[in-house]
Amino acid sequence: MCERGWDELDVILITGDAYVDHPSFGVAMMGRVLEKAGYRVGVIAMPNWRDPESVSVLGRPRLFFGITSGNVDSMVMRFTAFKKVRNDDPYVPGGKAGHRPERAVIQYSNLVKKVHKDVPIVIGGIEASMRRMVHYDFWNNRLRRSIVEDSRADVLIHGMGEMPILEVAGRLSRKQSLEGIPGTVMATRNPPGDAFQLPSEENCMSSQGELLDFYREFYRRQHRQVLVQSSGGRYLLHTPSPAIDSLSLDSFYDLPFTRRSHPSYTEEVPAFAMIRNSIVSHRGCVSGCSFCSLGLHQGKGVVSRSENSILKEVEKLCADPRFSGHITDIGGPSANMYGISCGSSGECVRESCLHPDPCANLQLSGKRWLDLLDAAARIARVKHVTVGSGIRFDLLMKEDGGRQLLERLVKNHVSGQLKIAPEHTSPEVLACMRKKPISSTEHFVKAFFDAAAKAGKKYYLVPYLMSCHPGSEMRYMREMKGEVKRIFGFIPQQVQAFIPLPMTLSSIQYYTGSDPITGEKVFVERDMKKRVMQHGVFFDR
Ligand code: SF4
Repeated sequence: MCERGWDELDVILITGDAYVDHPSFGVAMMGRVLEKAGYRVGVIAMPNWRDPESVSVLGRPRLFFGITSGNVDSMVMRFTAFKKVRNDDPYVPGGKAGHRPERAVIQYSNLVKKVHKDVPIVIGGIEASMRRMVHYDFWNNRLRRSIVEDSRADVLIHGMGEMPILEVAGRLSRKQSLEGIPGTVMATRNPPGDAFQLPSEENCMSSQGELLDFYREFYRRQHRQVLVQSSGGRYLLHTPSPAIDSLSLDSFYDLPFTRRSHPSYTEEVPAFAMIRNSIVSHRGCVSGCSFCSLGLHQGKGVVSRSENSILKEVEKLCADPRFSGHITDIGGPSANMYGISCGSSGECVRESCLHPDPCANLQLSGKRWLDLLDAAARIARVKHVTVGSGIRFDLLMKEDGGRQLLERLVKNHVSGQLKIAPEHTSPEVLACMRKKPISSTEHFVKAFFDAAAKAGKKYYLVPYLMSCHPGSEMRYMREMKGEVKRIFGFIPQQVQAFIPLPMTLSSIQYYTGSDPITGEKVFVERDMKKRVMQHGVFFDR
């Protein structure tokens, strides 16, 4: 601040993560976007939540405090699927747990309220976004009200926050109300008359039937309608995220990130080490899998950066003397969703473009994606471009010329192994996950190994699988083990135990034992010992 001649900041961002100036870190992105718009921004990373002074080190901001837990929900970061305390935290220097409080957004907000009572608080990031309305909390094993109320924030930004945070800053500069900004939730006494009314928060907390009704309506309407829910004599006003196009996305990723962690850190930030040489190509996911937060956070519509913007970022990477020549990923939620688009101009009411069957309007673009990877690999100093984020393999095989695309991928852009996520083999469990494969796993595995043999490579497939999801009974886990061994030829270790993440469809299935969309009853294993046994099926030799 002294070097820049600033005696005051406009915005102070507080995060539970280390500060890493890379576009994959939400706070870095928000800071750079605000800076570009002319605001003076400071960041307090990993404040000591027991010491109010830790949020005063940069003084008092002119406009607002922006608070986030960081790139991950603090409860997910703190506890395993079996509620054991984790010892690691890959988002802090040295990777050891202990720098981030539980329920970080609420803790940091309380801290700020203690010392700067009248400064507006804006909350955002995955923890706030996925707790924006009434939700099931696995760690308390109960429903919790919106985090807007528990944190006493002035406004919550949900989803990817670049546009909303600029609008919030602009309105606070002009001393205008924050109500109705696209991509936000806030408490109000005067909701718009034409907003869709959800069942009240109190009714959802006391009646499972009302909770199921709430979730169904919220899930279907959240991206296209203004929603309102009464709560404690006020109303929560939920507005859909603003539409964003490729040009805007390019403009965010073109900002002057240094791609370095803060120079004061003496130890590496493990999560940064993982993605240092990776590039985000798109946002959004067309799948709508029920256990995943992405659809609710980023939306179902895929927005892709232009090739030009991505290749410019590759060139920037190449200019770094420490760059090894290996780009470890050009991808997003699923790498091969780059460039996917919707051919319909009408309003879409489907929750997934792939479930229960692929929508006829979905326009796949595997060739464009592979052309991009090839173009990146041709840039001087780049030795190899591989896909680290995993692919939606059934989508690739569904495409015209899918087999040839797979051969191109395997020949040029796989580094030893390729990650895929069939998640399960039981049709009953896959139905609960909303992840019915659109082409066979077995067919893909054979095609992959044929392609590897043709390319003269010895490669591996790493299948990600999940235990304990609603619908999963012990017998289905045993069946899956046999099936996976038959298809892949080995028993993989990448089995993840299901965690009911707040506000996901699966979390409501887990809590209620019903699917809010179909109304069907669902088997749920909640007993912790039996969950451990289910998970152990794959590790029992
Ligand atoms: S119309 Fe089809 S492809 Fe387009 S968004 Fe809806 S489900 Fe997806």
